[in-house]
Amino acid sequence: MDQMTDKNADELRETYQVIIVGTGAAGLFTALSLPKEMQILMITKDAVENSDSYLAQGGISVLKNEEDFSSYFEDTMRAGHYENNEESVRVMIQSSRAIIEQLLTYGVVFDKNQDGSFAYTREGAHSTYRILRHDDVTGKEITSKLIAQVKKRSNIQVLEYTTMIDLLSDESCKGIVIETSTGETKNVYSNAVVLATGGIGGLFQNSTNFPHITGDSFAIALRHQVELQDIHYIQIHPTALYSKKKGRRFLISESLRGEGGVLKNHKGERFVDELLPRDVVTAAIKEEMEKEGTDHVFLDISHLEAEKTIKRFPNIYQRCLEEGYDFTKEAIPVAPAQHYLMGGIKVDTKGATTLPHLYAVGETACNGVHGANRLASNSLLESLVFASRAAEQIVKEDVLQHQEDMQQQIAVASSVLDDDSKRVELFRQLIWKEIKREDEKFYVRWCNNAN
Ligand SMILES: Cc1cc2nc3c(=O)[nH]c(=O)nc-3n(C[C@H](O)[C@H](O)[C@H](O)COP(=O)(O)OP(=O)(O)OC[C@H]3O[C@@H](n4cnc5c(N)ncnc54)[C@H](O)[C@@H]3O)c2cc1C
Repeated sequence: MDQMTDKNADELRETYQVIIVGTGAAGLFTALSLPKEMQILMITKDAVENSDSYLAQGGISVLKNEEDFSSYFEDTMRAGHYENNEESVRVMIQSSRAIIEQLLTYGVVFDKNQDGSFAYTREGAHSTYRILRHDDVTGKEITSKLIAQVKKRSNIQVLEYTTMIDLLSDESCKGIVIETSTGETKNVYSNAVVLATGGIGGLFQNSTNFPHITGDSFAIALRHQVELQDIHYIQIHPTALYSKKKGRRFLISESLRGEGGVLKNHKGERFVDELLPRDVVTAAIKEEMEKEGTDHVFLDISHLEAEKTIKRFPNIYQRCLEEGYDFTKEAIPVAPAQHYLMGGIKVDTKGATTLPHLYAVGETACNGVHGANRLASNSLLESLVFASRAAEQIVKEDVLQHQEDMQQQIAVASSVLDDDSKRVELFRQLIWKEIKREDEKFYVRWCNNAN
């Protein structure tokens, strides 16, 4: 946190090239995929680690080999009730290995077998083992390594406890309005804004999400007539640890069922195939609870080898113990809870929204990749794949914008060349602009006062 604090202390500037709202996997990966010369502001409502990305337990899917493509594609489509955007699904799967390679260069560690090969796991509705994991804390492993990389980049300023409260826009997006950690309201301008504010779990009484993740981007988008898509496609996870206490629900990863966990009613009877897609399992649990007149069912993994399950799920084991349940000896109480939003701000496969210069990535965006229901472990992957594509598009637009600016300058030039004072001013502006484009930090420090 030290360096983050230093960067927080940096003075907030009025303009940046790119503003990224949210420090989950999608926001961080967008920032890291942009050129090191671009001046980037990242803001987050809470501490930098407090994102849903950090909480991901199960893992991240990947195309293991070319032969698995059609099966992975079909699993994603079937889980999504064939409402998925096929192009998005194709792009996600085809880009998955490059994304994993990139994560490895950032120091992310995935579990391996004794022979050094990846130890793939499986979750509900996947027809094979194709999920990479780091124990049962994959999200923490990925997100903490991305945060560490961001801390190394002097071009990225991160402001914690800073909330986006509005967009600045006319016919295109010009920046955002923020509420700072001290409660002041400020306008911050940029060439591009990226919304990476996650989903809407904070609006629900029972959710596995952080309570501060309340879908602010969607309300702001609606106010600015930015199109949303499928905002009602909300995933209810079948198995959160049942609790009467208030607050975030602890997720019991699908991997427990993938590894042989069994769902039982109060009579100890199994009532559903545990590896069916999430929405089907959730509906079966709800029906069973209604039939029994209860508010939870049980997940039993006590028949599995205790040492192995503790080693495989150390975090979940610990958390269950804290709540008074030892999953090696007894079935644990579970109930469905809001978990994920498949819909969101409508984007193309490059993260562009319906408002020029406004992008959306991660859970905030809807490119149709999940259709009506997300396949387990596809969301971290989707967040990273489309974050990197959005970054690519932002760079392209930045270059185009620069070319357009230069064209305008050249057009003006012919009419003012004869006028000495106008020409001197024009030449001066052209040079400042070019220096600023190459090195905005240097420009702000050394050239701005001559402007
Ligand atoms: C418990 C749990 C387990 C999961 N397990 C898996 C898994 O195993 N595999 C998988 O693929 N996916 C999993 N997911 C889903 C996955 O983690 C998320 O969907 C994904 O990481 C979303 O990333 P994101 O970057 O889009 O958003 P998030 O990680 O949610 O980040 C949102 C960010 O936006 C910030 N923010 C929000 N509003 C504002 C505002 N107004 N102003 C400023 N900042 C704001 C937040 O502070 C935060 O930094 C899990 C989710 C949960 C909750």
